[in-house]
Amino acid sequence: MTQRDDRLDGNRFATKAVGSTETERRPHRRGTNDVVPPIHLTTTFEWASGDDANEHDYSRESNPTRAALEDQLARLEGGEHGLAFASGMAAISTTILSLVPPNGHIVAADSLYSGAEKLLTELAAGHFGVDIDFVDARDPDTVAAAVDSDTDLVWVETPSNPLIRLYDIRSIAEITDDHDIPLGVDSTFGSPYFQAPLELGADIVVHSTTKYLNGHSDSIGGAIITDDDAVFEQLAFAQRVGLGNMLSPFDCYLVSRGLKTLPARMEHHEANAIAVARFLENHDRVSCVYYPGLESHPQYELASEQMSGYSGMLSFEFDGSLIELEAFLEGLDVFTPGASLGGVESLVEVPSLMIPDEVSHGEATAEIPETLVRVSVGLEDVNDLRDDLRTALP
Ligand code: PLP
Repeated sequence: MTQRDDRLDGNRFATKAVGSTETERRPHRRGTNDVVPPIHLTTTFEWASGDDANEHDYSRESNPTRAALEDQLARLEGGEHGLAFASGMAAISTTILSLVPPNGHIVAADSLYSGAEKLLTELAAGHFGVDIDFVDARDPDTVAAAVDSDTDLVWVETPSNPLIRLYDIRSIAEITDDHDIPLGVDSTFGSPYFQAPLELGADIVVHSTTKYLNGHSDSIGGAIITDDDAVFEQLAFAQRVGLGNMLSPFDCYLVSRGLKTLPARMEHHEANAIAVARFLENHDRVSCVYYPGLESHPQYELASEQMSGYSGMLSFEFDGSLIELEAFLEGLDVFTPGASLGGVESLVEVPSLMIPDEVSHGEATAEIPETLVRVSVGLEDVNDLRDDLRTALP
């Protein structure tokens, strides 16, 4: 049974997202019967002992609004423990700093978000002497060949940003299990609605909640979900005691609110993305479309197997010059040129124009074509999205 069948079979994801069962509501009520968990802005809590002892002492370490979100995140990702961070990068860097010692070894897929790449190459390798092997993890054998008895962590982002490459989580997890090392998966592009890495064998799932989970482009945040008690203890200690990079109560509230509509939004993102991908595939100024839901995507079968839907992110290669590409960006009206993704509004990013210093030229990591356009397909009327592209493409 694929995850899509599983979802159709009714795994109650939407009910869990809304949190409308009695068990999910109960922890927030605390005598006031709030249906929506309140925002606890307090930094500290009055001390009491014995039966009156507080669950929370100081909000860096734990806070009721954050705890409610962390439960919600764990529930939706199908994991035991959730942690909410100040950004997606805070979640990734905490994973690396906690699980990889100085001079340790990481095997990472060679297509990943440029910030994560910089963290690995400049901070982990440059500052802590960590040895990083970037491999084309589309073939799990390359991962198996790079992992050895000194490896501390395998890291993949699937689907990857911005090349929309997929990695076979189940096969890679078999390799990491054989070596008894953790597999971390950045599942930001898939969202917990379309992809469940823990079920496929991953040990740590990371999200930039800035994207689909919050979904409204008004909060920067990150999340980690894990089933592994020891890993959780290490990460929680690093976050709460050492790094202090937790999500603020107000942002926790925003993410928690966003999560309730995640299923409805993801269905709509996906439907619009399929329509936009098909439109682009048939446009003569587009030489290639990368969308896992297109049969032309080389990993369409893996996407259909390991994801329950194809999500709302795609990239395409424009057949023309950078000057024409700039004119395309200027001609857009409904799509906004800008960084980030996963919000209700459609965004386009041309990495070579907008983040030139961060674009990989393919030395250690996969090369990003100069005329690659990344599209975060939003929730606008799909006819307006197609019309906008039709008008702006020269
Ligand atoms: N992971 C992926 C796949 C991303 O695309 C991003 C940001 O674009 C991040 C992590 C980092 O998240 P944040 O910007 O919330 O730190």
